[in-house]
Amino acid sequence: MNIFIVGGGIVGLNVALALQGRGHSVTVYERSEGGSVAASYGNAGHIATEQVEPLASRAMIRSAFSRLFMNGGALSLPLAGVSRWLPFSLRLIAAARPDTFLRGKAALSRLVNDALPAWRRRLDDIGAADLLREDGHFVVWETPATAAAALKAWRDTDTGSATWREVGAEELAALKGLTTVPVAGAIRFDGTGQVADPRRLLDTLAATFTARGGQIVHEAVTALRIEGGRPVVGTASADAAVVCAGVWSKPLMEALGYIVPIVAERGYHIQSAVPAWPQGLPPVVFEDRSMIVTRFEGGVRAASFVEFNTTDAPPDARKWQRLERHVRDLGLPFGDTAKAARWMGARPTLPDYLPAIGQARGLPVYYAFGHQHLGLTLAAVTGERVGAMIDDGVVPAEFDLSRFR
Ligand SMILES: Cc1cc2nc3c(=O)[nH]c(=O)nc-3n(C[C@H](O)[C@H](O)[C@H](O)COP(=O)(O)OP(=O)(O)OC[C@H]3O[C@@H](n4cnc5c(N)ncnc54)[C@H](O)[C@@H]3O)c2cc1C
Repeated sequence: MNIFIVGGGIVGLNVALALQGRGHSVTVYERSEGGSVAASYGNAGHIATEQVEPLASRAMIRSAFSRLFMNGGALSLPLAGVSRWLPFSLRLIAAARPDTFLRGKAALSRLVNDALPAWRRRLDDIGAADLLREDGHFVVWETPATAAAALKAWRDTDTGSATWREVGAEELAALKGLTTVPVAGAIRFDGTGQVADPRRLLDTLAATFTARGGQIVHEAVTALRIEGGRPVVGTASADAAVVCAGVWSKPLMEALGYIVPIVAERGYHIQSAVPAWPQGLPPVVFEDRSMIVTRFEGGVRAASFVEFNTTDAPPDARKWQRLERHVRDLGLPFGDTAKAARWMGARPTLPDYLPAIGQARGLPVYYAFGHQHLGLTLAAVTGERVGAMIDDGVVPAEFDLSRFR
């Protein structure tokens, strides 16, 4: 079949390679010239296999006030974005009902538990196994009180195939050597991972796809029309299309009659030009500051914030300043924060914190978007699921978009 994919982010490229591997002729439409600069590039690089519980939960709602930006936390609900986040929040509250949460957790677990094996398969296939590091990650607390409360919370949390333990003396010494503030407690996860560099990952996936005969067209798809039962982009038509446009999938799917209550859950990062962070040290989450720090080949990246907003609202510079302050206050080996690159971008988030993967009713149009905090983690397994859906008719009903009415 000839298949169009709208969106060449981490999900779109994985879907493209999976379909190409099944013998289809694939064209990716990606509007950014040098490859995606969206969340697929700006993420924290963490393969978060521990996150099998959807974030739409009663616990998350209860802690919302203490997590607000004005209280020093990561959660931001700007007035300008109220028309997006208010209806989204009402749906989130409904999705957090215990029965809905448990159903969502079962569905998400099946996907997350296959995430690392799927990445191994994909990276082995493209000869780039070195892009994946399976060294787990650390979570650190700065006060005995926050350490005790968080340890209790982690004990009550299902972490799927990932496991954690309190750090040993050597690991604690390494973490204490990172920062000038006291480390009151820390845990290490096993069974999680990181990518060596998000830019190299995207570039390698794209280069392999084109080397194998795939086409990347740098063009924004403004409409996905259906003519004679075939998806049409501009003047070109295909046998099928897959919408993988992150948060921008909304208008494309709404034009096909769907309700897409997606929100731009915007995050921020700063990145130093030099990788001053100790080599081989996996990502470290400074949980009291809701900040994750990851060493990539291109520099050290500190990321945080969940700002519910519109995609095109101007960035809030206070968030970069806060990241810079955290890095300085912690005394991290980061380099000069004044010279750090600043980035902001949107997680594509649906109110039940589950992705949308399925087929549009009666049409040769498929979709895979809405991967919220887990798009990097789930991209390879999503590619495999979309391949099975198109070729073998295996539709993951739990992620169907028609769940939103
Ligand atoms: C600060 C931050 C940290 C994160 N950390 C992690 C992490 O550690 N681990 C993890 O698993 N996830 C993480 N995430 C989430 C993850 O980055 C996203 O879930 C993921 O990038 C979504 O990928 P995507 O391909 O669906 O969408 P996007 O990354 O948004 O890509 C969509 C692409 O489609 C293109 N596009 C959109 N509309 C059109 C159109 N009409 N025509 C043509 N092209 C179009 C865009 O240009 C873009 O390149 C993080 C996100 C943020 C913001």
